[in-house]
Amino acid sequence: MAKRKERSIIAIIGRTNVGKSSLLNLLSGQKEYAITDPTPGTTADTVTCLMEIHDLGPFKILDTAGVDEFSKLGDKKRQKTYEAIEEADLSLLVLDPQNTDFELELDLIKRIQKHKKQVLIILNNFSVQKKESIEKIKNKLGLPCLSLQANNKEDHQRLIDFIQTYFQRDSRDIDLIPSLKEKGFVLLVVPMDEETPTHRLLRPQDMATERLLRNFITPVLFRPNLQEARGKNPEFEKKRFLDLVKHLSQTPEGLQLIITDSQAFDVITSWTPDNIPLTSFSVMMAHYMTFGNLDVLLEGVKQIDKLKSGDNVLIMEACNHNRKCDDIGTVQIPHLLEKKVGGKLNFSFNFGHPFPEDLGEFKLIIHCGGCMIDRQKFASRIIKAQEAEIPFTNYGFVLAYLQNKKVLERVIKPFI
Ligand code: SF4
Repeated sequence: MAKRKERSIIAIIGRTNVGKSSLLNLLSGQKEYAITDPTPGTTADTVTCLMEIHDLGPFKILDTAGVDEFSKLGDKKRQKTYEAIEEADLSLLVLDPQNTDFELELDLIKRIQKHKKQVLIILNNFSVQKKESIEKIKNKLGLPCLSLQANNKEDHQRLIDFIQTYFQRDSRDIDLIPSLKEKGFVLLVVPMDEETPTHRLLRPQDMATERLLRNFITPVLFRPNLQEARGKNPEFEKKRFLDLVKHLSQTPEGLQLIITDSQAFDVITSWTPDNIPLTSFSVMMAHYMTFGNLDVLLEGVKQIDKLKSGDNVLIMEACNHNRKCDDIGTVQIPHLLEKKVGGKLNFSFNFGHPFPEDLGEFKLIIHCGGCMIDRQKFASRIIKAQEAEIPFTNYGFVLAYLQNKKVLERVIKPFI
């Protein structure tokens, strides 16, 4: 199957006015990509730059605010920088070699290493430094250091070479939908409701379509009318679906798989013949976002059996959107969970916001497919939940599990 290089993420971090934005400009080769100014705190929020580094592949670079501003606003900026560290595969810690106190830098290094991420040191020389003082810093921090002048474009290649030498790119590759052979058909079930955006598909539907086309598999899109399918006379809708399934199954190359929106599990799982593999977009995303490690989400979903009335449940979506009456996060999942528990639960909703720092009160975290964030960010959320010993799962797993455990077993089968 055709593979594409995954994007790695670099965070540029350090104190205010050490030349972080200049380093971004040096790295990107674009002089004015980020605003640079001697005024402390010029970078108030994380700046993102997408670029291709020759021989290393695609990168997302995060230029962060300084971590040494101690005020209410400074706390918020620092929080954003911590988020960038957790998201990044590699942090470039920029420091001014004239500094004599490295306590803050050592704290940052500890934080980065706690998240099992890589860190390299950039000594931004505002004036020529003595060789011994640079050696002293290297020894103190115990990490590979590069000494350069961030505003000198001659240092661009040295910086790239330094990253190429020390950065160990995550080489894990994951097939979005493994075990498909080339050719044949895959049926994508795409119910549309009031929340469906116009003129485009949702990203997981888009990703699946691209994956199939790339491998000469023909995606066929089917829109069920869920209202009719759940109404008093579902026969017409059922026949429409089954006729299509039969037709595709009888072609020489056959129907390989059905991928449904998990909101249609109740209808599609009961309609799909047992001999046809079935999964959902959110299970596909869970497999992709966790690099194939579904165990953590499987463990998480079992927590549903232990929930009691009054327990706190966090429902998270990585992006925010307009909510209509039958919204999956605020209506469908809460309703199904309370029905299962037989009482009221305390739901907290976090849509499009950073992952909460304090998870202490939650008994379960249920995340959306996370298609709008990088896998690194999704992984860091799982790690945080694990550190707090809070079960973590996703929408698709919950909806399948609440149908019944056999449905969950069936929809994860294409990925195990
Ligand atoms: S990030 Fe989550 S809420 Fe946003 S579109 Fe993707 S799955 Fe849906």
